[in-house]
Amino acid sequence: ASVYWENNKKSAGLAFLDVSTGDFLFTEIKFQELESELARLKPTEIIVNTKENKIQIEKLKLAFNPAISVFDPWHFELKEAEKTLKQQFKIIALESLGLIDKPLGQIAAGGILSYVKSLKNNDLKHITKIKFYSLDNYMQLDEVTRRNLELLTSIRYGNKFGSLISIIDHTQTPMGGRKLLEWLMNPLLSPDEITLRSNAVAVMKTEFHYTKDLRNLLNKIGDISRIIGKIGTLRVNPRELIALKDYLETSPALAQILLKFDNPFLLQLQNQIKNYDDIIKLIDLALKDDPPILITEGNIIQNNYNKLLDELREIRDNGKNWIARLEESEKKKTGIPSLKVGYNRVFGYYIEVTKTHQHKVPEHYIKKQTLVNADRYISPLLKEYESKVLGAEERIKNLEYEVFTLLRKKIYEKIELLQEFAEIVAIIDTISNLAYIAYKNNFTQPSFNNDGIVDIKNCRHVVIEQLLDNEEFIANDVFLNSTDTLISLITGPNMAGKSTYLRQIGLIVILAQIGSFVPAEKAELPIFDKIFTRVGASDNLAMGQSTFLVEMIETANILNSATPRSLVLLDEIGRGTSTFDGLSLAWAIIEYIHNNPELKCKTLFATHYHELTELENLLSGVKNYNIIVKEWQDEIIFLRKIERGCADQSYGIQVARLAGIPFKVILRAKQILQNLEEHEISPQGLTAQAKKQLSKTTSQLDIFDAIFEKVEQKNEILTEIKELDVENLTPIQAIQILADLKEKL
Ligand code: ADP
Ligand code: MG
Repeated sequence: ASVYWENNKKSAGLAFLDVSTGDFLFTEIKFQELESELARLKPTEIIVNTKENKIQIEKLKLAFNPAISVFDPWHFELKEAEKTLKQQFKIIALESLGLIDKPLGQIAAGGILSYVKSLKNNDLKHITKIKFYSLDNYMQLDEVTRRNLELLTSIRYGNKFGSLISIIDHTQTPMGGRKLLEWLMNPLLSPDEITLRSNAVAVMKTEFHYTKDLRNLLNKIGDISRIIGKIGTLRVNPRELIALKDYLETSPALAQILLKFDNPFLLQLQNQIKNYDDIIKLIDLALKDDPPILITEGNIIQNNYNKLLDELREIRDNGKNWIARLEESEKKKTGIPSLKVGYNRVFGYYIEVTKTHQHKVPEHYIKKQTLVNADRYISPLLKEYESKVLGAEERIKNLEYEVFTLLRKKIYEKIELLQEFAEIVAIIDTISNLAYIAYKNNFTQPSFNNDGIVDIKNCRHVVIEQLLDNEEFIANDVFLNSTDTLISLITGPNMAGKSTYLRQIGLIVILAQIGSFVPAEKAELPIFDKIFTRVGASDNLAMGQSTFLVEMIETANILNSATPRSLVLLDEIGRGTSTFDGLSLAWAIIEYIHNNPELKCKTLFATHYHELTELENLLSGVKNYNIIVKEWQDEIIFLRKIERGCADQSYGIQVARLAGIPFKVILRAKQILQNLEEHEISPQGLTAQAKKQLSKTTSQLDIFDAIFEKVEQKNEILTEIKELDVENLTPIQAIQILADLKEKL
């Protein structure tokens, strides 16, 4: 990746180039979005134009540990970047690439291109396109959300196991795998685009017998993109070209199967599959079926491809045959039955005679080497054939190398066609993969509405339902709207299934917006522009910083960036500090989301503070739900079923009992709880004591307003004083100002 920004730090240009596949993207984003975007793309190396900027990037402490390097600043100049890009794409104006009114992006793109060229030292022909992308076209998922929803790695295992991708990636080709990942990192915002994909998935799911054939065919296709990358840098080897040929040979059958599906998106892809016979023939005629990887050792090029090569091979083979026959004929001539003809690298061809037969060795043999039991000889005629064979061999190797590099150049000319094919395969593979998981796991096609209604029946958690051993996963419904169920407050004891419920909804929304089917019986959804997930600090394994601080930083980010079209999943927020602190914060956060017209985002809030359920009485958009458990003989049974209403108690003590905490401790805890409940927080969010004090004044909201007003006023006065030019005031003016200020207090 290459990043460029100017001193004002308003926005940054970002370019991303995968040298192996030729994928080249650029964008311009807000400076604050840089970190999250880099975290999404995870480049192995980041280049910038100055040392200072390098330090800035280092400060982000990106978890994937990229190498950060400074590249010559003059490559990061608009003119220079323009020149580099024009040269690469062989165009005269940058308009056609969408680069024109994006100077920062252009500079970043030019910079990275120059950098890669300086490393690879050739013209990188496989980089044929640069694509502008905008964060506005995709659902925004920040790094914390991606981590909390366990899209690529699970929190528990810290690797792929238990992640969403581990369940949904059954792609058959490396291109498909990468495409699926790309889709997963960039859920769409346009319902039309989503439906285009999901209708294709639908057809492939219904006609699954054809999809199966298709996937079997895809299974034969390997990594075309990597091969293209090697073609682009002229480093491809014969074996890879043979593989490429095999992959291309699947294309007619691929096109044939695609015709079976009655779907415009798939038919369009079908249409884009071209005839690749030229390339196939080129490789087929030139290369042997099972060539070596090395291109300097010959044995690559077919017979009948190059006349000179055929001639040389004949000379070599004749010579070899003559030598092969020599053993028999010399045996007869000399009467030495143990005579052998052999070859080694140092002496070349030789005739070996054991010591016992030395007296029979003819005159014209020349002794070259003495061994313990035998002597090795050459004869002038053998030498002559040897030099024919070895000379031909040498020329063959050189010629094959030449012929191969020529072939490589010819294939290089076809690179765009190959890239197109790789892209088509990637998309077909991804769509059929989505059809496969929908078929296998009983997913349904979601539908989208503009009314902000979330209505999911019997929804499941994609991953957990697969990982449960003996238990059955209990499906649950979800309902949210923009009016009376904006925020759903979910209570229930520890282990009830709150976090699972929250996450499964996040996952369904993401799956839906990449065009996938979803694990539910029915799913009616709005389009979400962003998803935020935050997990309370005590549930989170954060690094370095105080975990509660991290929790609050993350929550602040939500309150500052969510919109009415966002989905917010808050899991035990406020848990990382003392009970009253945490409870008050949670309370205030819910109020803020509910009342602030710029937020009003659909929110699921899981909490074990059942005091929060009072909010339903105070805020019209809050509804209580709880995951029910049953008490049975003083133990609790998890039913995993969500229902309207609130949990009647916290059950924490029962859970403690389940865990084997001694009975005496449990008993004492119950006593303490009773004590505490007498000082419980009132429906207005205040302890009984505070409430008494407040009852004298008007309403508590006014109190807060008044406090805020005071703070603002104070700030204003302070600024006024700071800005006074005391030296140039007359005493009268000073007195006047003082009087004014006093007035304001
Ligand atoms: P909480 O957040 O309420 O403490 P979790 O969501 O972490 O609970 O769930 C605890 C465990 O319960 C999960 O790891 C999972 O094994 C199981 N579980 C959760 N939801 C369900 C469900 N709907 N059906 C079956 N098992 C579930
Ligand atoms: Mg939880």
